[in-house]
Amino acid sequence: MNKTYHGSCHCGAIKFEADIDLDQGTSKCNCSSCTKGRFWKAFIGGEALRMTAGIDQLIEYRFGGRTIAHFFCQTCGVKPFGRGEMEDTGVFYAINLACLDDLTPEALLAAPVEYQDGRHDHWENRPAEVRHL
Ligand SMILES: [Zn+2]
Repeated sequence: MNKTYHGSCHCGAIKFEADIDLDQGTSKCNCSSCTKGRFWKAFIGGEALRMTAGIDQLIEYRFGGRTIAHFFCQTCGVKPFGRGEMEDTGVFYAINLACLDDLTPEALLAAPVEYQDGRHDHWENRPAEVRHL
């Protein structure tokens, strides 16, 4: 069931609301960016994210195919979310679950986790090793 969560970066300059159904699963990926950032995320549609503060405080980073915009707080460096676009489903956001202030550890642990082999550009596959993600 969709629930509205409230998120922020570390310094609080960036605040947002996100409608997320954690029962639909969360995602961990072994690509170079997710690995270094330990980015545990949930995907939501483009209309399910609302910025409530600090949209002008975000800095954008792209790498590789440059198709995904990774956003960081320019003050504290925390990445609250990334944004991408698919031809069939349109704009999506990948929300950093660690930034959700009203998501309890218990609720996070109860959510299913899916693993993607982004390191080898096979996001549909589960990597052979996932314990470090
Ligand atoms: Zn910040």
